[in-house]
Amino acid sequence: MLKVLIAGGAGFIGSHLCKKFIERGDSVYCIDNLITGDKNNIIPLLDNPNFNYLEYDITNSLVEMLSKIGDLDYVLHLASPASPNKNSPRSYINFPIETLLANSLGTYNLLNIAKEKQSRFLFASTSEVYGNPEVTPQPESYFGNVNPNGVRSVYDEGKRFSEAMTFGYRRKFGIDARIIRIFNTYGPFMQKDDGRAVSEFINQAIANVPITVFGDGQQTRSFCYIDDMVEGIMKAIEAKETAGEVINLGNPDERKISDIAAIIKQMTGSSSEVVFQELPQDDPKVRKPDITKAKELLGWEPTISLEEGLKQTILYFRNT
Ligand code: UDP
Repeated sequence: MLKVLIAGGAGFIGSHLCKKFIERGDSVYCIDNLITGDKNNIIPLLDNPNFNYLEYDITNSLVEMLSKIGDLDYVLHLASPASPNKNSPRSYINFPIETLLANSLGTYNLLNIAKEKQSRFLFASTSEVYGNPEVTPQPESYFGNVNPNGVRSVYDEGKRFSEAMTFGYRRKFGIDARIIRIFNTYGPFMQKDDGRAVSEFINQAIANVPITVFGDGQQTRSFCYIDDMVEGIMKAIEAKETAGEVINLGNPDERKISDIAAIIKQMTGSSSEVVFQELPQDDPKVRKPDITKAKELLGWEPTISLEEGLKQTILYFRNT
């Protein structure tokens, strides 16, 4: 039985990881301050004696709070707002300072815990470190094209800083750390009001109100279903060979955003019209992961098609 700390454990991806570790019989310490996470995501786990929920902000020192729990096998850092849509109450645009601090002080505090407790560490970075990429698909070796002070910078630069901090700790203290870069991910338990393309389009299609495509809809994204993502993350933390590595995790099935809108409209049988609105600042034109490294190192690649994943997600949105 492993002891696992998951920061951001009440968030979309974090809560799936909590469930996965609990299902395996491991012991989980879930930390979340709920600014964008949701306690509903972990309610089924709260009665489990192996599940420990700690409502806490990782930007405060963790040393005292975690002093009694002894060693930890794994520390996973997934605690950060992640949506760029300013219309969403959960967007990092509305939590600029919190986002920067979660990805600086928060990372520092978690790395100190991993150092003290000699834990394996995983930092959840993002495809946003590539910014508006001039190289496509994006391999891990690409340094990115990021606006250092635009509206998205609080997230992009926060994640880049955390990457530097993670490897700083590895170089100085020999921490068993790895970085994953998560590309667009969707599925059940994503926040319905997070303002992401998939959630917004499904909400709008089900309600038969206009589907809002930003810009001309020709920008691309590559969407990964949550079950595939969770499997990739589990492999990344489990494999010893991932120490000191940066690994893209995502589905290389690249689509235009206007096509995503059309597919969701069709799959929901919606009468919504598709309308075009202003493109937000620094919205990347293309995004597609090069997952050669994940295939080689982890023997991992996504297996769930966009159509199958959307079917499950639409079902979740209709039934909850
Ligand atoms: N998008 C859109 N309508 C929406 C929400 C998002 O057209 O209601 C676009 C957004 O401008 C971006 C893409 O869909 O080009 C993906 O946005 P999302 O917020 O899901 O994630 P991002 O990849 O930008 O972080």
